[in-house]
Amino acid sequence: MSKTFTADALRRQMAAVLGAAGSSAEEARQVADNLVMANLSGHDSHGVGMIPRYVESKLEGGLQPNTSAKVTLDAGSMLALDGQHGYGQVVGVQAMEMAMARAAQTGSCIMALAHAHHLGRIGHFAEMAVGRGLVAIHFVNVLSRPVVAPWGGADGRFGTNPCCIGVPLKGREPFVLDFATSRVAQGKMRVAHNEGRQVPPGYLIDQHGRATTDPGVVVVPQSNGLLGALMPFGEHKGYGLAVACELLGGALSGGGTWHRAPDARREVLNGMTTILIDPQRLGTAASFEQEALGFIDWLRQSPTAEGFDALRVAGEPEREARAQREREGIAIDDTTWDEIVSAAKKLGVALPAAG
Ligand code: NAD
Repeated sequence: MSKTFTADALRRQMAAVLGAAGSSAEEARQVADNLVMANLSGHDSHGVGMIPRYVESKLEGGLQPNTSAKVTLDAGSMLALDGQHGYGQVVGVQAMEMAMARAAQTGSCIMALAHAHHLGRIGHFAEMAVGRGLVAIHFVNVLSRPVVAPWGGADGRFGTNPCCIGVPLKGREPFVLDFATSRVAQGKMRVAHNEGRQVPPGYLIDQHGRATTDPGVVVVPQSNGLLGALMPFGEHKGYGLAVACELLGGALSGGGTWHRAPDARREVLNGMTTILIDPQRLGTAASFEQEALGFIDWLRQSPTAEGFDALRVAGEPEREARAQREREGIAIDDTTWDEIVSAAKKLGVALPAAG
């Protein structure tokens, strides 16, 4: 069972909860808009279902509302910032604004952001950059729980470490590739568990390191008190990219890597190393514009394979979901909604119950 909301209604209600959790009206609006945009884009794992986690993290003293990113290095095309445990949806945007302004001046920018609380959909930042004609590359690590197993390993050792690449395409919608390096996002397992669904084989191992299709193994502690783990995507190659995200998004950003036993804290910290390039300044702009479009057109001429309704380019599924959900509303499953209602109640905000 689920409840369907208009994007506007959801934004208003979530902003009220975030405001009660201590955010200024402007911050509450910004975070609520970002989360609802994730739902609109089809990524419910990074939408309003994160609010209970944020509320717990705030109450524990992890997440720090009304906190800005602090510049720790400003040296030409190199920028380093500390998110100081502020909302990633806020400090991430501040860091990107600075990095985009710098890339506009110098042609490129390498920006390191440490200690941001959960940055949400990384594609949001790539969309900001491609909107200004910049290429964006993001490597991100996640410090919350070691939920992904190394290729060849039998327990979780790192997070779902997302990687994202945005490329502007002249006169067309951009290419925005944005994915977790786990076989699936952890939040999608929470949604599947809440909806009582099993997941396909190959996604998960249980607390003993054995293959399973039960998403509960990574959502609720199992009989021995341990959790299972997600598998990386793409076997040894996806695993390698996940490690690169830890080394670049975690170690190089200054945010730190995962190398300790899991604990029960609800905080989710992200480190992000971002590379922005202005193609107009690289000396290859004419070729870039023509060749990129030439390739995308060529790609699209491939006949649609059996079992597919269409050939798509990264970024399209999110745009299609937005058009559909703006029209038809956003369905939130009852378990997720109940969790949001309970979190709101802790803060003295009454939301209508599910059903
Ligand atoms: P996913 O598996 O749905 O993959 C999404 C990517 O694949 C998108 O770029 C999409 O456009 C592209 N895509 C999907 N179907 C396609 C098709 N048929 N043809 C071509 N391209 C297609 O996403 P995911 O791995 O579940 O990640 C979901 C979100 O979770 C992302 O926005 C990611 O940034 C976010 N995330 C955030 C964190 C964090 O700590 N902040 C951690 C992990 C993931």
